[in-house]
Amino acid sequence: MQIIERISEMQRWSEAERRQGRRIALVPTMGALHEGHLSLVHDGKMRGDRVVVSLFVNPAQFAPKEDFAGYPRDFERDRELLNDTGIDVLFHPAVEEIYPEGFDTRIEIRELSKPLCGAVRPGHFSGVATVVAKLFNIVRPQVAVFGCKDYQQLQIIRRLVRDLNFDIEVIGHPTVREADGLAMSSRNTYLNPEERKAALCLYRSLRHAEEMVRRGERHGAAIVAGARAEIVREARARIEYLSLCDPQSLKEIGLIEDAALLALAVRIGKARLIDNMILKP
Ligand code: AMP
Repeated sequence: MQIIERISEMQRWSEAERRQGRRIALVPTMGALHEGHLSLVHDGKMRGDRVVVSLFVNPAQFAPKEDFAGYPRDFERDRELLNDTGIDVLFHPAVEEIYPEGFDTRIEIRELSKPLCGAVRPGHFSGVATVVAKLFNIVRPQVAVFGCKDYQQLQIIRRLVRDLNFDIEVIGHPTVREADGLAMSSRNTYLNPEERKAALCLYRSLRHAEEMVRRGERHGAAIVAGARAEIVREARARIEYLSLCDPQSLKEIGLIEDAALLALAVRIGKARLIDNMILKP
């Protein structure tokens, strides 16, 4: 596994691989890797002849009061984990490499960034879209793998690729969970043992809603109320949003006809956790 820190070197490497007719798969991450990330990497390995994993904690997607400075970082551990997966390149640029003096561009995906996380994290998805567009131009992949855990992000990347004509196939990889159902996340390390137990309410809430739909409930208000009640029972949990919406437009829906997305963000201690589930009648 090569470690590349420079944009010019990354571009040269990709250009050479493409000239040989090889298909490059990109898996963007912010590090502090867990089984969820590794599952995306394995997916990438099946879809590309070469796999590049980027590791970059992107300051542009954190608001001033968010956890950029305290975000978990352990480069040595990540490097070892990735080395064992047999990827080809770990792209690990410095912040000044990605955002040099004078950097002045932002990409905005307007409608899809309005609801859910976008409503509570202004500027977040613009920061995500900007860095992902840069990574696409630097790594030049034919395929890129993103997790469904960050469902709104995945939809925004799909929109970005369509709107800006990136010739890249975007793959949404299913959410990887701990044995008890908690969605894996780098931010789970913020949880103390009691909070870790409390964090199960997210998955319980989704499962409860799924069960309501299975029993025939179609009314958004009833499903949201049922899901909300599961979170409210947990004293340590504070709901940031809980929304039933259209899986494509992310607009709230009142009645489930086809599939619906139930998405939620919950604060437990200093962790902000998100999760979601597609509900199908
Ligand atoms: P992050 O390092 O948290 O920015 O995540 C990097 C990529 O891994 C994103 O595409 C995430 O959606 C994805 N990811 C994070 N956690 C999970 C998980 N539990 N299951 C599947 N994908 C995940």
